[in-house]
Amino acid sequence: MTHHQFLQQAIQLAVDNVKNNQGGPFGAIVVKDGEVIGRGVNTVTNHHDPTAHAEIQAIRDACNYLQHFQLDDCIIYTSCEPCPMCFGAIYWARPKKVYFACTKYEAAEAGFDDQFIYDELDLPYNKRQIFMEKLNDDEKLAPFHTWMNAIERIEY
Ligand SMILES: [Zn+2]
Repeated sequence: MTHHQFLQQAIQLAVDNVKNNQGGPFGAIVVKDGEVIGRGVNTVTNHHDPTAHAEIQAIRDACNYLQHFQLDDCIIYTSCEPCPMCFGAIYWARPKKVYFACTKYEAAEAGFDDQFIYDELDLPYNKRQIFMEKLNDDEKLAPFHTWMNAIERIEY
């Protein structure tokens, strides 16, 4: 299978997802050693889950298959350039490569514009669309201290 053929599988998942009325026009697969080990489609509306983007779903599927929290030596093929959320998820999953078909600009033309999220990252807290404020608490570092002192922690 070529990169192009794997990418076509992701695109077909996206098309079928719309035809089956499952969610948005996005599909992704995860490939390891030439084998598809994870698939995902957008099910945001159907599953009432704003995080159910195709790439996230494919990463969860592949990690469940591998029984591991990282996609070592894996390649993600996605029908569209990842949104900021999926971009972050991909970096946490650590595949070796990502191939995508549509750009974020083509997605924007279809009504899926995520530029505002990129813009938000650069804004100070008080200028963001969603109110965000740091609150002080004496116990704020307790989770980190507990983590650093935990004997059986799994580093990632
Ligand atoms: Zn996404």
